[in-house]
Amino acid sequence: MARINLEHIRHAYGAKPKSEADYALKEVHHEWNDGGAYALLGPSGCGKTTLLNIISGLINPSEGRILFDGTDVTHLATQHRNIAQVFQFPVIYDTMTVYDNLAFPLRNRHVPEAEVDRRVKEIIEMIGLGGWAKKTARGLTADQKQKISLGRGLVRSDVSAILFDEPLTVIDPEMKWVLRSQIKRLHKRFGFTMVYVTHDQTEALTFADKVVVMYDGQIVQIGTPAELFERPSHTFVGYFIGSPGMNVLPAQIDGATAAVGGESIALGFQPRIKAGATTELGIRPEFISLGREGMPVAITKVEDIGRHKVVRAHFADRPISIIVDEDGEIPAEPRVTFDQKAINIYADSWRVGEEA
Ligand code: ADP
Ligand code: MG
Repeated sequence: MARINLEHIRHAYGAKPKSEADYALKEVHHEWNDGGAYALLGPSGCGKTTLLNIISGLINPSEGRILFDGTDVTHLATQHRNIAQVFQFPVIYDTMTVYDNLAFPLRNRHVPEAEVDRRVKEIIEMIGLGGWAKKTARGLTADQKQKISLGRGLVRSDVSAILFDEPLTVIDPEMKWVLRSQIKRLHKRFGFTMVYVTHDQTEALTFADKVVVMYDGQIVQIGTPAELFERPSHTFVGYFIGSPGMNVLPAQIDGATAAVGGESIALGFQPRIKAGATTELGIRPEFISLGREGMPVAITKVEDIGRHKVVRAHFADRPISIIVDEDGEIPAEPRVTFDQKAINIYADSWRVGEEA
């Protein structure tokens, strides 16, 4: 159970970084609450594994400090950080039985054998390998081995934090769902701080209380699923979260009005823009209404995706997406209106607030 502070962390893998581009992590500075469930979400290569390995101590950051409950652990070895880590690929002992693999982290800490037995039996049922306790791990399939790995991460109840690096990638979808809810249950019961890396937005949004979105070596937003959806703090978050993602249109801001192509859109507030910034208007496909009123659009394609239709269109010479109800009709001369409350304005890709 630990509060984790990341203080001005930067990391370059090469010995002599020449420019910002050489940094896998550019500037990570955040506090993660004790007992929180954080999902670390971002595209491949954005620095998720690097950050996780810095928290666990497998990597020493080039710059910055890590604190657990206020204590500097930056140079403390992994085994002294009281954490468990589950990797994307199985890390188990092939020659040991499934039971002994799960018991290992407990015996290693001299937990009494009766307690070991109790914990191992609970975890072995949880990962669905109850009938396999006495088998050696060698003969198991890749996904069974990964379940053992996961079990080894979850078997200790006294860890400060558990770090998961895309642990369910090789597990089939149904079992994924089961294991996710089991992890959540253990998290509630034992109160460890949980950091769960994934590149899958559905997994992140259903699993965590706070989603940490990473992009290009930086954390661009930490928020609840609702915050990420309604107020993406960076255009990348808008694109990445949601399906289809947020529409981002080049816009000229003048007071409380945005000009997009030849159209003029009332914002209802005056964004605070620095001179010279590139400005954009963000609006999610869910918050555009298609009908007979408003600004003209040219529809290029309608995709039926079950409960909704995704309409692809051109608005002010730009491609946009609009989500309409399954039974929503599409008029012959379609027009759109934007829900004013759902408009976000960006300057140099970052969301701007209102003029004070
Ligand atoms: P993610 O887990 O989000 O996919 P990583 O943290 O693995 O991202 O990688 C971040 C960046 O650091 C990438 O550009 C990757 O190529 C680079 N990188 C990762 N590991 C190493 C390494 N051991 N040596 C050199 N570069 C690395
Ligand atoms: Mg990774």
